Amino acid sequence: RAKSRSQGNYEVFDPSMYTYALKRLQLENDLRRAIVRTTSPEATQPEFSVYYQPIFSIATQQIEGFEALVRWQHPEKGTISPVDFIAIAEETGLIVPLDRWVLKTACYQLRAWQAQFPMPAPLTMSVNLSGKHFYQPGLIEFLDSVLEETGLDGSTLKLEITESIVIENTEAAAVMLKQLRDRKVQACLDDFGTGYSSLSYLHSFPFNTLKIDRSFIKQLGMEEENDEIVKAIVNLGLILRMNVVAEGVETPEQVAQLKDLNCHYGQGYWFSRPMNGEAMTEFLLGAIEG
Ligand code: C2E
Ligand code: MG
Ligand code: MG
Ligand code: MG
Repeated sequence: RAKSRSQGNYEVFDPSMYTYALKRLQLENDLRRAIVRTTSPEATQPEFSVYYQPIFSIATQQIEGFEALVRWQHPEKGTISPVDFIAIAEETGLIVPLDRWVLKTACYQLRAWQAQFPMPAPLTMSVNLSGKHFYQPGLIEFLDSVLEETGLDGSTLKLEITESIVIENTEAAAVMLKQLRDRKVQACLDDFGTGYSSLSYLHSFPFNTLKIDRSFIKQLGMEEENDEIVKAIVNLGLILRMNVVAEGVETPEQVAQLKDLNCHYGQGYWFSRPMNGEAMTEFLLGAIEG
């Protein structure tokens, strides 16, 4: 029957399409199960964990704070990269409970590190928010409850969103950013330079930080035009009074170049890979007190 309906259009029988759909469905189910196992009150077999990557001052080589990065330990498939599941989590809405769990976990961890490692400027935590979560009603109430529950000073929390999220709905984004600012929670523009950067909106949105996408840092010192772009972004940060973080710093040469360009902060494998909370505590004991 299928044959007569498709009229010789054999596309519908393409086995690779079938495999793809099946795999996707499987991943979606696994994701749902993993979120329940991790976030429900009786969570007994958490599959997600939060890793932390330190962000350094380039001038002083001191740790300024961290970025929280989710990791999924799948019981059969092993570690799955966020690159491979964030998009599906967004499409299915599962990203909201996941992002919230990451946010809360990271706030508790930061509070503990701030107590253990007091600094003249307290350590900070950057947390990625998906667009779906950023525009979800109730985010501000959730944020308030997390700040209250953890006792964290809002000014030490940073939320990272991308340019495309802002562009999606500039009016709603402005309202959200204002509400963050009212709580002194900082806003970072992530992967800067890869989206539809519009200089006209940049100065009207209260971002505290620009994070230069790692594709630009990777090419530092290899191509003059690329270096000029990085220089322009750092200067833009100066003009707009925004901090600038270079993402994906992998070599000492890149650090030297960023220093020459007066880039404030750097994050990348050269400084440290993302680590779980325990490993990061060990790292901090060596880096801060040692
Ligand atoms: P991102 O926000 O741009 O995070 C930085 C990514 O660069 C991380 O990838 C980090 O591990 C990687 N990275 C750091 N230093 C280096 C380096 O020197 N070289 C290279 N090649 N890579 C480096 P990761 O952890 O795989 O995360 C990928 C993306 O997934 C993140 O990009 C972020 O957009 C998203 N993501 C991660 N965690 C969350 C989360 O909790 N919620 C949401 N909504 N998105 C998340
Ligand atoms: Mg980020
Ligand atoms: Mg991001
Ligand atoms: Mg980024």
